[in-house]
Amino acid sequence: MQQVSPDRIFLSSPHMGGAERVLVEEVFASNWIAPTGPMVTRFEEDLARLTGMGHVAALASGTAALHLALRLSDIGPGDEVWGATMTFIGGVAPILYLGAKPVFLDVDPDDFLIDLDLLETQLKAAKANGTLPKALITTDLYGHVVDGARVAALRRDYGFVWISDTAEAVGAYRDGRHAGAGADFVILSFNGNKIITTSGGGALASDDAEAIDRARFLSTQARDPAPHYEHTTFGYNYRLSNVCAAIGVGQLQVLSQRVARRREIHELYRERLGQVPGFVFSGEAPGMQANRWLTTMRIGSQAGVDGETIRLALEADNIESRPLWKPMHMQPIFAGADYYGGNVAEQAFADGLCLPSGSSMTDGDVARVCTIIEDLATPR
Ligand SMILES: *Cc1c(COP(=O)(O)O)cnc(C)c1O
Repeated sequence: MQQVSPDRIFLSSPHMGGAERVLVEEVFASNWIAPTGPMVTRFEEDLARLTGMGHVAALASGTAALHLALRLSDIGPGDEVWGATMTFIGGVAPILYLGAKPVFLDVDPDDFLIDLDLLETQLKAAKANGTLPKALITTDLYGHVVDGARVAALRRDYGFVWISDTAEAVGAYRDGRHAGAGADFVILSFNGNKIITTSGGGALASDDAEAIDRARFLSTQARDPAPHYEHTTFGYNYRLSNVCAAIGVGQLQVLSQRVARRREIHELYRERLGQVPGFVFSGEAPGMQANRWLTTMRIGSQAGVDGETIRLALEADNIESRPLWKPMHMQPIFAGADYYGGNVAEQAFADGLCLPSGSSMTDGDVARVCTIIEDLATPR
C-alpha cells in the first residue's frame, strides 16, 4: 500500500456549524458589510444572554477588550495591575499600552488559575504598605474557571477593579454561572484558535451600562456627537465588523456542542494516557465545568519521556502540540517586573504539553495522538 502523509492535526482549528455561512449571506444581501450593523447588535445580545452580564460591546479582539477595560478602569502610569503569571501576552500587553505596572503571581498546580491563597497574602501585605493594586486580572486559563465568590470577597476587602480574562473560557461555568460572573469587566475572545471564532474578534462584557456605552464610543475613535468629527479624547479603531459578527451569531448556536466535544476529547486522552505513570491531567474543582479548550498534560519523570520529545514525535507525524504558556515573569520583556510566588508556573511550563483538542477531531485522530505518546512512554 502506498504511504500517504496523514492529514495535519492542529491544536485547535475553526469549526463552523453551518449557520454561519447563511448569516454571512444575510449580511451581504443587506449590504451591512461595514462598519457595524444589526448582526453586531444581535451578537452582543446573544453574548449577554450567554454570560449573564447586562451589557456587551463586540470588538476586534480580546486584547482590545482588555485595553478598553483597563482604560475604563482609569489605569494609568504608575498604577499596579496584578494578574497570574501563566497566560498569553494578549492578556497582559494592554497594561503596558497604558504605562501601568504589571505584577505577576504564581498559579495553582492543578488548574493553572491564580493562586488565591497567595493573592490574599500579598493583598494583605500590600494594604499594610499602601501599595494595593488598582486592578486585578484573573485568567480562566485553558477553560478552567476561577472561584469568583472568593475573588469578589477579596475585591470587597481590598477595593480593586476585577477584570476577568475569560478569553479561553467561553462556554465554561462555575457553580452554574458562566465564567467571569461577578467581575467588573469580562474579556472574551473569538480569535481563530479559540473554542468558537469570528475569524478574529472579541468582546467586553459588564453589568455597568455606562461603561459599555463608553467602550463602544472609545472603540469607534471617540467621536463626540457633532456633524463633523469632534474629539475631546482619543479612542481606537476596535469595533467588530458586521460580517464577523454574523459568524459569531452562528458559532454561538453550536457553542454547547463544541464544549461537549472538547470535554469528550479530554476524557478520551485521560482514559488512555491517564494509565501511563507520570502523565497527569488538569483538575476540575467541585462546581467547575471547564470547557476543556485545550487538554493539558503534565509529564512527570516516571513517564520516562519529556514533553519536547513528545512534541517532536507528534510533529514528525504532522500533529501540532505546544508547551503551556511561558510564564510572564520568565519573559525577557518582563525581566524587571515584580513576581510573587514559587515555581509552580515555571514547573508547569517545563513539564506540560497542550494536546490537539479541536472539536472537529475524530476519535480516530485522538487515538493517533495517543498511540504515538504511549509508544514513547512505555518500554516496548
Ligand atoms: C486569546 C487570548 C487573549 C487575547 O485575545 P485575542 O482575541 O487573540 O486578542 C487574551 N488572553 C488570553 C488568556 C487568551 O488566550
